[in-house]
Amino acid sequence: MKSLWSDAEAAQFSGPLGPRVYTSRLLGRDKSLVLHGGGNTSVKLREKNLFGEEEDVLYVKGSGWDLETIEPAGFSPVTLGYVRRLAALKSLPDPQMVNELNTHMLRAGAPSPSVETILHAILPHRYVDHTHADAVLSVSNAPDGEKRIREIYGDRVVVIPYIMAGFDLAAYCAREFPKQAKGNTVGMVLLSHGIFSFADDAKESYELMIELVSMAEEYLARKKAWQIEVRNEKPSGFERQEVAKLRRAMSDQAGFPMLLKVNDSPKFLGFAQRRDLEKLALQGPATPDHVIRTKPFPMLGRDVAAYAKRYREYFEKLSVSATEKKTMLDAAPRMALDPQLGFVAAGRTARDTLIVEDLYEHTIDVILRAEALGGWRALEQKHTFDIEYWDLEQAKLRKGGSPPVFTGEVALVTGAASGIGKACVEAYLKRGAAVVGLDRNAAIETMWKRPDVLGLTCDLTKKDEIEKALDKAVKRFGGVDMLVLNAGIFPSSQAIQDIGAESWRSAMAVNVEANLLVMQACHPLLKLAPRTGRIVVIGSKNVQAPGPGAAAYSASKAALNQLARVAALEWSKDAIRINSLHPNQVFDTALWTEEVLAQRAKAYNLTVEQYRKNNLLRQEVSSKDVAELAAEMCGPLFAKTTAAQVPVDGGNERVV
Ligand SMILES: [Zn+2]
Repeated sequence: MKSLWSDAEAAQFSGPLGPRVYTSRLLGRDKSLVLHGGGNTSVKLREKNLFGEEEDVLYVKGSGWDLETIEPAGFSPVTLGYVRRLAALKSLPDPQMVNELNTHMLRAGAPSPSVETILHAILPHRYVDHTHADAVLSVSNAPDGEKRIREIYGDRVVVIPYIMAGFDLAAYCAREFPKQAKGNTVGMVLLSHGIFSFADDAKESYELMIELVSMAEEYLARKKAWQIEVRNEKPSGFERQEVAKLRRAMSDQAGFPMLLKVNDSPKFLGFAQRRDLEKLALQGPATPDHVIRTKPFPMLGRDVAAYAKRYREYFEKLSVSATEKKTMLDAAPRMALDPQLGFVAAGRTARDTLIVEDLYEHTIDVILRAEALGGWRALEQKHTFDIEYWDLEQAKLRKGGSPPVFTGEVALVTGAASGIGKACVEAYLKRGAAVVGLDRNAAIETMWKRPDVLGLTCDLTKKDEIEKALDKAVKRFGGVDMLVLNAGIFPSSQAIQDIGAESWRSAMAVNVEANLLVMQACHPLLKLAPRTGRIVVIGSKNVQAPGPGAAAYSASKAALNQLARVAALEWSKDAIRINSLHPNQVFDTALWTEEVLAQRAKAYNLTVEQYRKNNLLRQEVSSKDVAELAAEMCGPLFAKTTAAQVPVDGGNERVV
């Protein structure tokens, strides 16, 4: 492991917290040190208050901040002297500890200080860095872990047995640190948890962390337990319908829709195919912290009911010795290892699935390296349970709150790179859905840079391209629940006698047949949607009120309309709802080039300006207006509605 320190970069971080922010970010950059909110850092500063009195203030990472992206505002200032005194108390329940920390902050509105704050306070050094380094976990979770750690570090680190983060750990360290610390002590290892480094200078503390972790890495390398190659013996057996089935079963078990992310890379697939998988994977997480995201063990294979039974037994066995009554969480797995699929991460949001995947990728490293050292040993399950059912976590549960309406669901939007399609992506995202956007325009792939959007280039008139896109969509999110059939073309205005065969056929191919192909390919997925499948068809006013010069367009949209009506009849038995929207004159779309606009205005003997608001309400209709209604049609308001045809046109004399 190399130090990432750069003097030039460091110089860009000014102010008393500058060096603290910089080295925290350096730690955050390396995922083998900290993952997703893991780890924390602090600095002790002397500051003057309003009365000119000097005070010692501990700035410690606030909860909800990631080291990689932390800003000065991400550090919570707490009164150092007071927090240090807490460590000497005989006992302090964790909820009360959190209250004490929160009420001894010096800045209203600062984030809650880390639950490891007292631990930072009792260490005498100015800068304290704490990570959950993979290499240290591998060594401490191997046989004779503690002996090995002492062998690697000698007096340079203080060694603390596993105790759950919170008051008890801090109080223990406060007693133990002065006993064990020697003149050359620069760190502290918490077995099965992580490592601390400290110094009076930010750079020195950071570089000590790198040095200490490197020592564990070198130890593993010497024992031939560092470079571990994982390869799959059998190829991936990914089938999207199987994944959608699994998602349905997991969502049913959870009681809410969940997204799945499938990873069949050689590392995950190879691990899932190991003969000793049960022994390795069922013991527990690399560090108990992960349990909040991953649950205590993965599901092996796809038997969700069997997993739920195992989880219930775990809860029942361990909750009896808890001091207060615990509420069982849902019994659905958050990860699965399957010899055909590889690794499957589950979560309510796309971000959650990515976090689970990241955590397990590092868990595999930790497990296999410890295994190479003589045998992976996870902590006893009761420690994992204590974190999963910690008072503070249970309190969060009671607070509840309801997530956005489409949380855990997947919407697929065609023609998503512009106009109504693009607005639909936004409308579904706003309601919590993960969105797959398809478009012929390759710009779709980079239009949204966020984990809950998958943009794919796809020619919808080609069946194989649709198949490939759906495979990618299901690998990424686990299924398709809502389908927005938006892609369409508007051929330039032509009198019937002038319509060429090619222009007629292309209108039919894109506006009718492509939608048929997408519907056919999505049907098995929509059938498996945890909250039933929904389709919204972006039709056209022309279905009921065609215009002169638009025969190909009007005929194709009318054919699509009939297709949708028949789908409502045929697919009602699968609980799939299909409703149509008939917009008119939505000018902020790719269909409406200046040329088309001028042509259509002329066809109605209007100026372009008159044509824009040519409706009963004299209101221009935007893509967003259409998209918002499309999203609502998939929501609870329309739960009992199928085969509806709703105009979004400001009112049209020829339709009413
Ligand atoms: Zn920690």
